[in-house]
Amino acid sequence: MKIWLLLIAAGLLICQTVQGNKTFSFEGYRLYRADPFTKEAAAVLRSLHDAYPSEPEPGLGLTFFNYPSHRNVKVDILVPPRLVSAFRKAVAGRPDIQLELLHRNYGRVAAQADRENRQFPRLMKRLRRAVRRSDQLILNHNQYLRYDQLLEAVNTLAQQCNLLRSNTCRQQEIGSAYEGRKLIVLRIEKSQTDKQKRKVWIDGGIHAREWISPATVLYMADVLISKGLNRRMWTPEVVALLDYYDFLMLPLYNPDGYEYSHSHYRFWRKNRQTNGGHPSQSRVCRGVDLNRNYGYKWGGSGSSSDPCQDNYRGTGPFSAMESAAVKRFVEQENSDKKILLFLSYHSYGQYVLMPFGFKRGAYPRPALSAGKMSCVAFFGSREMFSTNHRFYIHGTSADVLYEASGGSDDWAHGSLEVPYSLTVELPDDGAYGFLLPPAYIRNVGSEAVRGLLAMLRTIHDLETNTNFYRTRCLAHTAASDY
Ligand SMILES: [Zn+2]
Repeated sequence: MKIWLLLIAAGLLICQTVQGNKTFSFEGYRLYRADPFTKEAAAVLRSLHDAYPSEPEPGLGLTFFNYPSHRNVKVDILVPPRLVSAFRKAVAGRPDIQLELLHRNYGRVAAQADRENRQFPRLMKRLRRAVRRSDQLILNHNQYLRYDQLLEAVNTLAQQCNLLRSNTCRQQEIGSAYEGRKLIVLRIEKSQTDKQKRKVWIDGGIHAREWISPATVLYMADVLISKGLNRRMWTPEVVALLDYYDFLMLPLYNPDGYEYSHSHYRFWRKNRQTNGGHPSQSRVCRGVDLNRNYGYKWGGSGSSSDPCQDNYRGTGPFSAMESAAVKRFVEQENSDKKILLFLSYHSYGQYVLMPFGFKRGAYPRPALSAGKMSCVAFFGSREMFSTNHRFYIHGTSADVLYEASGGSDDWAHGSLEVPYSLTVELPDDGAYGFLLPPAYIRNVGSEAVRGLLAMLRTIHDLETNTNFYRTRCLAHTAASDY
């Protein structure tokens, strides 16, 4: 009898927790894909983007999943019921915009995604069991973790890493986010005495709603440790990686925004700092787009000066605590020019992007530097395609996607002169979009690991074999393009 009472009490508690959680239901929301054929059409979409920002009340305006910077850039737009007719009036009927209704009721899609992510309530228990098994990865990778769980997972990885080989992994708190959450870098260094080793920087989760990104970076760290250090699982390629490179991994760049996207508004993108309102408006909006807040060509195209916009660039370069912390840390780590590759993981769209993103037709100089980076992007994309047959487009982000100034990859190459700087837009291509089910984490993770291996193999060949560029790269990169 007592047990029944306890169960009922527990049930009530769960109900309360769910009700207390103010997540959006997205009931009746529609998801459209708009393809503007002309400059004027892209301008119409941009004016809608500016006229109906998703703040100060997230979800009441239009939520653009990407930015309509040019013609022929397809844009996915989430439209609340109250704006459907205004949106259709502005867009439908224009011969230069192809409009496709992807989902009539996005509430169903969001509810399904939410259910799937709750299917693994005993994650941490299973996780501890899995740790003891030597034939598996250390973590389960079957759920999008909350901030606390993610820190616990990073801690578990570090501990297991050091059990396999002492002093190889270190957690470093490089600063904190606006609301006080920690920014934790996991360092994986097999030999701390080797001064010749180059470094690889990898970050995930700079944009809050891109949940597959931190999950993938965590997966990659697990593979590096499990298959690079555990004798029973040794994979020669991964073992070799740890011989050549030290890895600096920041799985969750924007923990405040990430938590907000779990607890309140699923499609939140920026950090959570408070801003003043736009000078011409009385609204007060929150958050800076951390990937428009970097110091190289800050303030240009594809970034907004309006704090209510999703791509708000902040009051100045590195005005956000999170990007300032990363700048400090990366600059310090690169003071001896040891960072060879700077990699940033986003979603979605399946792209491997190289600098520069601030302007169309802007490429690294000399042309050989651009050619080499393009070659690395090509072999990375090809390997990821061969893993799961998902096609990745490669090129500069401004050319193949949209112009966006103040991005981290432009800064790493343009300001820090890191030789290889790439941004990967993980799956999918829009069927699930940001709501990619957690069942895909391992699948996407293994694809990303194979891509990383191919990219680092290519970089190694380029750096050690003077013929490699001429014999292997030129066929895939038209040097005259740069
Ligand atoms: Zn992103």
